[in-house]
Amino acid sequence: MFGPAFVNQFDTVYSIHRLYKLPERPAYLDISNIGWPCLRKQWYSMRFDPDYALPISARQEQIKQQHKLTMLEELSFIGVNVQTPNFQINHFNGQLSGSMDASGLNFAEAPKTWHVVQLDCLNDASFRQLSINKEIHGHGLPDGMFQKLQSIMAITGMTRAFYLAENMNTGQLFKERVRYSAKVAKKYINDAHEVIISEKEMDRISDNPEHKECLQCPWKNRCHFGYKK
Ligand code: SF4
Repeated sequence: MFGPAFVNQFDTVYSIHRLYKLPERPAYLDISNIGWPCLRKQWYSMRFDPDYALPISARQEQIKQQHKLTMLEELSFIGVNVQTPNFQINHFNGQLSGSMDASGLNFAEAPKTWHVVQLDCLNDASFRQLSINKEIHGHGLPDGMFQKLQSIMAITGMTRAFYLAENMNTGQLFKERVRYSAKVAKKYINDAHEVIISEKEMDRISDNPEHKECLQCPWKNRCHFGYKK
């Protein structure tokens, strides 16, 4: 979303990026973070600002939201009953919260079943990875998405999810239907509850700051090097 207008007379690109507000740290565990394999990272996400945040990510997020609106319109045009208002999800008195893109009925694959609808916009490499994931894990979902969808189905009571991804480079689409598993979802919801109530930092996924999860983690400096803002 746009923040206050800022114009740098020497740099147009800089001025455009400054139009976007950086996301604020929520005072709850965002349901999108349930899929993160490191519980300490989830724990940090609701308690501390990241070590860094890039305005370019805020702009990317806005562009993705616009693509998602187009995808919802397309689903509607082909006859899917897409419901979007107020899909804010709250659990544990609002301490586990987040939103889902929509719910949908009348998908060709199962017309009588309501689905959690999750949309995604990916670059070419991430899009190709979905097919590889399908071979390895039996479902073509990006990291963390299976956990997120299971958790949303557990909270909403829907038993199927429809994941639809667009390749932002080529416009190709990829779909995956996901079946609810109460046993699997219970584990993720229980983990989320631990993250919410724990007064102490949760365990790290690794003591090595070069671990693949840590290399991408915005709380790496706090976690491994004691850096505090
Ligand atoms: S730096 Fe690594 S261990 Fe620490 S919170 Fe992030 S992912 Fe977890």
